Amino acid sequence: MTSIRISTFKLRLLSALSLTLLALPLAFAQQPGADGLGDRLYPRLGNGGYDVRHYSIDLAFTPESNSIAATAVLDAVALLDLASFNLDLYELTVDSVRVNGIRAAFAREEAELVISPAQSIAAGAAFQVAVTYGGVPQPIVDPAVPFVKLGWQEWDDGYVAAVSQPSGSMNWFPCNNHPLDKATYTLRIAVPRPLTAVANGVLSETIANDDGTRAFVWEMEQPMASYLAIVAIGDFVAVRDDSEAVPIRNFFPASASDASIAGYDVTRDMMVWLSDMLGPYPFAAYGVVAVPGFPAALETQSISIFRASGAGELVVLHELLHQWFGNSVTLSQWSDIWLHEGFATYFMALWLGKQFGADAYSSFISSLRTPDMALNAPGNPEKTELFAWSVYARGALVLHALRSEVGEETFFEILRTFYSENAYGNVATADFIAVAEALSGRELDDLFDAWLYGERIPDLP
Ligand SMILES: [Zn+2]
Repeated sequence: MTSIRISTFKLRLLSALSLTLLALPLAFAQQPGADGLGDRLYPRLGNGGYDVRHYSIDLAFTPESNSIAATAVLDAVALLDLASFNLDLYELTVDSVRVNGIRAAFAREEAELVISPAQSIAAGAAFQVAVTYGGVPQPIVDPAVPFVKLGWQEWDDGYVAAVSQPSGSMNWFPCNNHPLDKATYTLRIAVPRPLTAVANGVLSETIANDDGTRAFVWEMEQPMASYLAIVAIGDFVAVRDDSEAVPIRNFFPASASDASIAGYDVTRDMMVWLSDMLGPYPFAAYGVVAVPGFPAALETQSISIFRASGAGELVVLHELLHQWFGNSVTLSQWSDIWLHEGFATYFMALWLGKQFGADAYSSFISSLRTPDMALNAPGNPEKTELFAWSVYARGALVLHALRSEVGEETFFEILRTFYSENAYGNVATADFIAVAEALSGRELDDLFDAWLYGERIPDLP
């Protein structure tokens, strides 16, 4: 009896509520998009409520002032009934925002650009945001990478390059700045002669503007995470290899030495080797851009960036491998970074094994586990440990341990399947474990727990 009475009461309450809902203006059901995507380490990177499909960024660069003047047009789809939504944008001045061609109100709250369209956007609707903005990009200090500032900045000899992993892209374009929202890109970058602007994907057009500048139009037609977007500007010399379906075009500063250029000759062999092992190279072109003063290497999508003094063979391999694991198959949370860095480091061992035999593989693996070095668990690092050596080295040893456990044939089947099932998408560590368990027919919790999360690093198998 009691339960029936409660049910009746609930029913009445429900019908009263729905009447109230109907009576309220439609705006009641609309909501603001979230100001983050729930990343454990970067809760305010990215934004909820919409999905960007394409970025079209039309940007003019003035070297004398290192300033930019740009319009970014974002084609997106609403995932909620949106009364307002956010983009991530660090500093810079916003001149205007239009949503579907109509001026929209906007406000700045730290690195959030909060946009309130004149008309709310219905869930499921496609919409277009155009942001006109400019100024001098301010490099971002991110505790994950204390050795370098992020985003658009000038390096040595007037060369400019935007390098952004993990948070820097918002210093040069408004974006949904988290790898979970991948999109395609058109990057149209105007620079004065004789400078060249290099960016992701394929150069579709070079336009001579009336003001004497040239616009380089680059198309990235495969989905890309915002942190992998790059623009590099300078007096570059291009070196092309069109011998296979995927062209390789490298860009070197005019001052580059022949030896530093020759260091990349091995790229084609590596690409063929990786494609045979994992599946076709994921993008329409590859290459490197070498930038004076840039102190590291980064796997920016389809065009990795390197220091100008040249790179060792294993670093060349590392950044190329990331095009499969990192760029095509991308983490869902920044703390899953071992899925990028552990894989890229493990393939350095595989390359040594291919070139010099099993002993070379083994000694590289042994060198990753120096006995006196405490290699912290790589499976769930804090922000300051994201790019620590422990993530690279012990992350690589996770794969070595897995290979020892399941055998060579199954191991490579696992890599191929994990890649092909998730190409151009996002993954979590659990997805990799699920593929490994399914294909090996074994329960592998103990192995992954010990290597990924155990306080003490296990002995090498
Ligand atoms: Zn890496």
